[in-house]
Amino acid sequence: MLTIHHLYADMMNLYGDRGNVISIRKRCEWRGIPVEVVDVGLGERVRPTGCDLFLFGGGQDREQALLADDLSGSKGADLRAVVEDGGVVLGVCGGYQLMGHSYLTPEGEKLPGVGIFDLHTEPRKPDEARLIGNVLVDVEAPETAEVRQVVGFENHGGRTYLGDCEPLGRVISGYGNNGKDGTEGARRLNAYGTYLHGSLLPKNPWLTDQLIHSALRREDESFELQPLDDTAERRAFESVSAQLPGHR
Ligand code: GLN
Repeated sequence: MLTIHHLYADMMNLYGDRGNVISIRKRCEWRGIPVEVVDVGLGERVRPTGCDLFLFGGGQDREQALLADDLSGSKGADLRAVVEDGGVVLGVCGGYQLMGHSYLTPEGEKLPGVGIFDLHTEPRKPDEARLIGNVLVDVEAPETAEVRQVVGFENHGGRTYLGDCEPLGRVISGYGNNGKDGTEGARRLNAYGTYLHGSLLPKNPWLTDQLIHSALRREDESFELQPLDDTAERRAFESVSAQLPGHR
C-alpha cells in the first residue's frame, strides 16, 4: 500500500496543488496499486508506513507563518529523517520554500524552514515584480540522466538561492528559483522542490511515475511500474509547452 501524506492539505493548496495528490492516486489506481491519502494537519505527527510519498503544496505568506512554527519541532525533524532515509517528498512553492533553511517575508519576518535543502529564500525588492507565468524546465531524469522537459506555472514573490544543493533543473523559459541564475527548484536524494504549480504532476506524467516508482522501490527493490496510455497527459503538457520558446 502506498500512503500519500498530504501536508497541510487545506492550508497549502494554492493554485490547486491538490491536483498532485489526485494525479499520484489515479496513476496508482489505474495500475491496481493500493493507495491511501492521509492528511497531516497542524499539530499532527508524520507517521511513515514504509511505502510513502509526502506532498507539501503552495500557500501565501500568512499560511506559511502559521505552519512554520508547527514544523520547527519534532515534525520538521521527522521530515528531515524521512528524506535522509531516502523517503520521497515533493514540495511546491511555499512548501518548497519551507523545505530550505528560511523564508524571509516581505514584512521582514524570517520563517524557519525544515532544512531539507541547503537553500534560503529572500523577498522581492520593492521595485521587483512577483515572478509569474508559464515555465519550461530541462530536468535530468534520476537514474537514466536523460534530459526530460517539465512544464508548469509559477507565481511567487520569494527569490530562492541554492547553497550546496542541486537544482531540479535548468530554466528554458520562465523565471525559476530567482529569475537570475537559471535554476529551478531543488533535488536531494528523493526529495524534490519546485516553484511549478499547474498543478505540476498531471501535465508531467513521467515525473509523477518517477515519484511513485521511487516510493514503491523502497518496499520492493525489484518493483517495475507498468506504462500507461499518456495521450491525454501529453496533450495537456503540449497545450502549455507549445507556447514557450525552447520546447521540444
Ligand atoms: N508566499 C510565497 C511567495 O510569494 C509562496 C507563494 C506560493 O506558494 N505561490 O513567494
